[in-house]
Amino acid sequence: MHLECVVCGTGLTTRSPGAVGLYPICHAVPCRMVLDQRATMGEAAFQRHLHWRAKNTREQRTRARVEDERLRVWTATESAENTAQWATVEAGMPGHQPDQFMRLALPSGPARQRKLAQRRRQHYLDHLTQVIAQALLPGDDVPPSDTVAVDTQSALPGQVCALCRGGCCTRGGDTAYLSADTVRRFMAQQPNLAPAQVLSAYVERLAAKTQVGSCINHTAGGCTLPREMRSDVCNRYLCESQKELQNRLDEAPPLLGVVVVQRRQDHWSRHLPEGDNGIVGAATITESGISPWPGNS
Ligand code: SF4
Ligand code: SF4
Ligand SMILES: [Zn+2]
Repeated sequence: MHLECVVCGTGLTTRSPGAVGLYPICHAVPCRMVLDQRATMGEAAFQRHLHWRAKNTREQRTRARVEDERLRVWTATESAENTAQWATVEAGMPGHQPDQFMRLALPSGPARQRKLAQRRRQHYLDHLTQVIAQALLPGDDVPPSDTVAVDTQSALPGQVCALCRGGCCTRGGDTAYLSADTVRRFMAQQPNLAPAQVLSAYVERLAAKTQVGSCINHTAGGCTLPREMRSDVCNRYLCESQKELQNRLDEAPPLLGVVVVQRRQDHWSRHLPEGDNGIVGAATITESGISPWPGNS
């Protein structure tokens, strides 16, 4: 006999807990919660509720399956394109040693700038005022966290982020992940600054023009905040490519450089179905700098 959960449709065996009875149910908590409601509803109302929840659950599952399949195809397609592009760049590198160069795929931060709107500036000011006030509240003895800088002697991680142009900064919005903890840390490092001076220190670093669709501190030259003023999120975050690079820098043989394929979308938008995430360029990066691939258009 074919048994399935009345809510989600998961196949059950007669030995599954909940499989026996008028309403076979799987072990998932949301499915069990639907069945629990039978005790508080009349049978007809419960039937309608069950029908609606089962329909919704199955539609969600179908959407998730379609999305998983889309991501699988997306990953396979981009991976094959990246591999072909890396190989083309490497073919133009005389004496290329594959174990001394690493292949990386990067997103792209926004290329365009726009005058910083007064509304954004005010939003930032309000946020800073709030987090500075929170940082000053008595009784909060949470020790300030350390500023985490990228701990490497190599120039490669910085060059990689520079080529990417801050592809992960696009979610910084008007608040730049700044919190009371960040302010507390900054104030501990700068004990002579009064709260109003802390506020000014942040506001004074705003540029007249910022990158379109990105963090308020994101400019064409990178982040306007020094590391000690950035949030822990900003100081600690590494995208997958940066993680791979930093892990590789700890290994032998020493890394001479990176072969980069760069895609159009930023870090957060690259999986989205809308929007072209085609390859927009390639480059090699060594300790001495970035060399754009001559075939870039
Ligand atoms: S961490 Fe990754 S996504 Fe962010 S700027 Fe650097 S390379 Fe780009
Ligand atoms: S504060 Fe700087 S590092 Fe952090 S999201 Fe904004 S631009 Fe990026
Ligand atoms: Zn179920």
